[in-house]
Amino acid sequence: MSLSFLKPLPDYLVQRYYGWKATTFENNKSWYFKLAEDGQHPRAMIISCCDSRVHVTSIFGSDAGEFFIHRNIANLVPPFKVDQDYHGTSAAIEYAVKTLKIPHIIVLGHSTCGGVNASFDYFSGNQPDLYNDSNFVASWLEILRPSFKKIPQNLDKKDKIKSLEKQTVLVSIENLMTFPFIKKCIEDETLSLHGLWHDIGSGELMYYENQSDKFILV
Ligand SMILES: [Zn+2]
Repeated sequence: MSLSFLKPLPDYLVQRYYGWKATTFENNKSWYFKLAEDGQHPRAMIISCCDSRVHVTSIFGSDAGEFFIHRNIANLVPPFKVDQDYHGTSAAIEYAVKTLKIPHIIVLGHSTCGGVNASFDYFSGNQPDLYNDSNFVASWLEILRPSFKKIPQNLDKKDKIKSLEKQTVLVSIENLMTFPFIKKCIEDETLSLHGLWHDIGSGELMYYENQSDKFILV
């Protein structure tokens, strides 16, 4: 296949890159050199949404090499399943736990999530075409369907969607526990799982607390 359709990087990105090279990189040269020589030893894996507003590295003020980050639509982890399909999320999890031996996995949900919003309408029957219109999105969002049934019915639509946003985190944690190597690490206490939800507009960060069965401010 000819790649003649490929274009150079847009100017504004070239400018941004040279800005980074002259400042951040230049000021931390020895750190980048060490990362290149020693390989990566991230402190945690973060599974977050693809949403451009979820600025994972900024929220935690992290440096290069600190987080092993996997992003997908609505920060979902599928259940453990071995077949011949391409399992990008499961592959990232397997590599993080088995090879990098990361001690923490953080699932980070967020407010006004487009994937959750679409799921809510899709599961409510208000977006029946989603399945026919998409090859991948609708089937991916099926991971969240069991959570839709757990939404408290006494809420208005906005709060129901917020509840479903938090359920993305919990269903992902539940599904992480279906991976045998994760279950083993939890039993051996070499791995901790954490469920977080981030409000983009207010900057708040909440974590799931098992005792109260609620998300509370960190
Ligand atoms: Zn999202």
